[in-house]
Amino acid sequence: MKTRFLAGVLLALLAVPARAIPAETKPNVIATTEDLASLAREVGGDRIVVDSIARGYQDPHFVEAKPSFILKLQKADLLIVVGRELEIGWLPPLIQQSRNAKVQVGADGYLDASQGVRILEIPTGQVTRAMGDVHPQGNPHYWLDPENGRAIAKSICDKLSQFRPADRAYFEQRLAAFGARLTEAEKKWLALMAPYKGIKVVTYHRSFANFADRFGLDIVGYVEPRPGIPPSPSHTLDLIQEMRRQNIKLILVEPYFDLKTPESVGRATGARVLVMPPSVGGVKEAADFFALFDYNVTLLADAIKAAGK
Ligand SMILES: [Zn+2]
Repeated sequence: MKTRFLAGVLLALLAVPARAIPAETKPNVIATTEDLASLAREVGGDRIVVDSIARGYQDPHFVEAKPSFILKLQKADLLIVVGRELEIGWLPPLIQQSRNAKVQVGADGYLDASQGVRILEIPTGQVTRAMGDVHPQGNPHYWLDPENGRAIAKSICDKLSQFRPADRAYFEQRLAAFGARLTEAEKKWLALMAPYKGIKVVTYHRSFANFADRFGLDIVGYVEPRPGIPPSPSHTLDLIQEMRRQNIKLILVEPYFDLKTPESVGRATGARVLVMPPSVGGVKEAADFFALFDYNVTLLADAIKAAGK
């Protein structure tokens, strides 16, 4: 009798059309950044609920922890992180305080998006955070290469399919559509940047390594002496000399850094300071993963053209 009853319940559950999944039973996905949230939306469509923790206009290394973040993590079925120690300064205590077993490091509901992507600047010697360097496991800003975006979306698709096997075909179809759209967009972005291949620039933080690698920028210096270390007078003087020597006319600055030092370097060298968002949500125009590249590629191409290169 009991078995028949359970079988009946199971059949009834199976009979529920996928479209009719009520919101409360959709996997609740929390991404640490808006970039990962955007990619999760591309794959998950209306079969998941997505929210993010850090805003795109914040420095993702140094996010101020808020009680609301713990609440988000308490309700999460899946947590997607950038990894490579990007969030190590703020995320571990939040995960711990959420007391949500599903999203603890190593649990099924914890996805490190850096698996399977191309990581640049992996240190060969000894680098520790004790030295103040916030990139001890290579450059964690890897989402700024569309090809890495493709790999991240694939990881998310695999994980969501594991959570909701019945929706696998839906997620895979959305992943394929995303991939096709990305291929077209990437052609357009590469064509826009092609005339400026090899152009030398300086950036504030090492946020644009993957972007530069994909789109042919040559980053020859940084306003920070080391990743995560504020500018120092001696480093700034060295940078000015190097920029004069190599005739560098562009300084890219993430929206969350103070413009004082970049602007003084700009005045000393005749270089233009360009605020360029490394993340979705960094400026209002960069509303999703595609819009972020649209915005940055156009911004750069226009600035280089204006500089007469
Ligand atoms: Zn960084």
